[in-house]
Amino acid sequence: MEKVIIVGAGPCGLSAALELQNAGMEPLVIEKYSIVHSIYLYPTYMQFFSTAELLEIGGIPFSTPNDKPTRAEALHYYRNVAMRRAIRIRSYEEVTSVVKHGDTFTVTSVDRAGNAQTCEAENVIVATGYFDHPNMIGILGEQLPKVSHFFREAHPYTGTKVVIIGGNNSAVDAALELIRVGAEVTIVYRGESISSKIKPWVRPQFEALVNKGRIRLLFRSRVTRIEQTSVTIEREDGPETLDNDFVLALTGFRPDRAFLQTAGIEMEAESGKPHFDPATMETNVKGLFIAGVIAAGAEANEIFIETGRHHGGLIASHLTRAEE
Ligand SMILES: Cc1cc2nc3c(=O)[nH]c(=O)nc-3n(C[C@H](O)[C@H](O)[C@H](O)COP(=O)(O)OP(=O)(O)OC[C@H]3O[C@@H](n4cnc5c(N)ncnc54)[C@H](O)[C@@H]3O)c2cc1C
Repeated sequence: MEKVIIVGAGPCGLSAALELQNAGMEPLVIEKYSIVHSIYLYPTYMQFFSTAELLEIGGIPFSTPNDKPTRAEALHYYRNVAMRRAIRIRSYEEVTSVVKHGDTFTVTSVDRAGNAQTCEAENVIVATGYFDHPNMIGILGEQLPKVSHFFREAHPYTGTKVVIIGGNNSAVDAALELIRVGAEVTIVYRGESISSKIKPWVRPQFEALVNKGRIRLLFRSRVTRIEQTSVTIEREDGPETLDNDFVLALTGFRPDRAFLQTAGIEMEAESGKPHFDPATMETNVKGLFIAGVIAAGAEANEIFIETGRHHGGLIASHLTRAEE
């Protein structure tokens, strides 16, 4: 019988593990891939918009000579923290269900060899994040192999015609990298202007390239159809068809609510936000907690590492008080 099982070893699941350790508990973490898998999936050369201290977990310093850490530095930091603090992590094991029987939970998972595993726990923290679930646009051609909801690095797009869908940091960062490898870039965005949250040190360079016509930026526009060699865009003045090799649909992510539903967690109908007590992160199922971006519902950008890393502390305090 485990005292606490944490599902997901993202930054917020790891933070919860450290907070529980600080409170004298030794949680078991079960992770579908390797730790901080979502950061591993970030663009290879990405720089965070947060400073290092706002990404720290468990009060362990994250030092970097850079203003903002890179993806590689963050991987190094979280990996070291997990190893130094000897967090018990079972990686490459996917949790498939969490079911409450009486006062305890049965956590069922499948390990990397395909074997079913079960564990019993007094408490479970779901910290499964959102990276497995990109926001789909729902248009014809979205399933073609030339379409990706992730951007890793520019090299494979050298000299090709790329349409980027989206208007946030991911779209802007990808466009800047793609220009450097000689790709022809068109950004298609339904908004009126590029996001106000664009990293301030990136914005001037991006705007200069747009003004020079090196990046084509279309506002109030949306892609309506993707074909093998073309893309159709609905614009204010009518449809436009572009020759096209690749589409990067950088439209964000949303947490997987199906997993929460099967565990008995109630959710707001419209926003899909799970019911939980913000002071303790406990859901309507006693002993079942949420941590990280999974708590955000449809507004996944409302919670990020900076904020979600504090959820574990609330859970640890609550469990400690319950013991007293
Ligand atoms: C390009 C990019 C840049 C970003 N920059 C910043 C930034 O500068 N600052 C900031 O604060 N935030 C930033 N974010 C947001 C940040 O990445 C997320 O808010 C953060 O990853 C959420 O952490 P989490 O632990 O809640 O979830 P995740 O990081 O998504 O981790 C969830 C973990 O759970 C695992 N998992 C999922 N399902 C299961 C299952 N069934 N069984 C077992 N394990 C499972 C996943 O494999 C994953 O490892 C950025 C995001 C992106 C995409």
